[in-house]
Amino acid sequence: MNLLCEIGEAKSVAIAGHIRPDGDCISSTLAVYAYLKCARPDIRCVVFTQDNPPTIFSYLEGYDEMNLTYSPKEKFDVFIALDVSSYDRLGDALWFFEEADKTICVDHHETNPGLADVNEIRPYASSTCEVLYELFEKQFIDKTVAECLFTGIVHDSGVFQYSNMSRRSFEIVGQLVEYGFDGPKIIQDTFYVKSYVQNQILGRALLESILFMDGKCIVSMIDRKMMEFYNVLPKHLEGIVNHLKNTRGVEVAIFMYEMGTQRYKVSMRSNGGVNVATVATVFGGGGHARAAGVEMNGTYYDVINALSREIQKQM
Ligand code: AMP
Ligand code: MN
Ligand code: MN
Repeated sequence: MNLLCEIGEAKSVAIAGHIRPDGDCISSTLAVYAYLKCARPDIRCVVFTQDNPPTIFSYLEGYDEMNLTYSPKEKFDVFIALDVSSYDRLGDALWFFEEADKTICVDHHETNPGLADVNEIRPYASSTCEVLYELFEKQFIDKTVAECLFTGIVHDSGVFQYSNMSRRSFEIVGQLVEYGFDGPKIIQDTFYVKSYVQNQILGRALLESILFMDGKCIVSMIDRKMMEFYNVLPKHLEGIVNHLKNTRGVEVAIFMYEMGTQRYKVSMRSNGGVNVATVATVFGGGGHARAAGVEMNGTYYDVINALSREIQKQM
């Protein structure tokens, strides 16, 4: 796909990622925003975000311009969906997607069926930001764009740790650091540093985790009462599932938190033996082979039982 050709003569472009945005989502939307400012300053661009973006990303240019509550029912010439693999994950931006003259989707989720009129979905890329780097014309990449792309790759690869990092991903990171931003500071401040209560709740999640299936699976859950006690929001729980997975012998880690009465947000991580995207898809979720998510109804035990049955089928 040639992104600028696909945008063509459009005068207005809407950009959005997925609900409960993560690092790759925030970074990819802001990267496209900054890139279009450079390449097509004549275009009116609006970046949507359904939920408050984590403040750790506030150093990214354009962060303050992200639109949380966009009221005019305005139709855009082009809508660009980034890092989002299903319509429901677009949140309120779905209306603008449906009304746009043309839709473009850039993503790396293998469960993405091709949401838009024009799609660039690369399941082997580490992140949407990596795909964007390949699509961007190099003359329009500046320090701002590079800093966004770097942040997205860092977050979706767990600081270059996961198997989604290919030789090409590392080459791209190498090219990005040439732009002169402070990469180590971004990694430290946005990935490793957590608030005191976040570390406390991580401790609780690890302490109360349970091994099952002969130690091949691990599960932990944070309920509403605990979230209220520590005064944390769902976005503060990101990363806990990765700590669970760093348990020797574990092939699949499951972390969930209570979203409402008998409703859980589930995150799964796998070392590759079990495809957790397949498991998540059974219940209406999705993601990648080694990292997937889904929202499920039932008691904590109903959810574990349902997931276990699907995981068992692959073991
Ligand atoms: P999470 O554990 O929620 O951070 O999600 C892990 C991966 O699965 C991310 O790449 C998400 O974008 C994706 N994912 C999470 N929840 C869903 C869902 N309900 N539908 C599709 N993809 C999801
Ligand atoms: Mn994402
Ligand atoms: Mn991503």
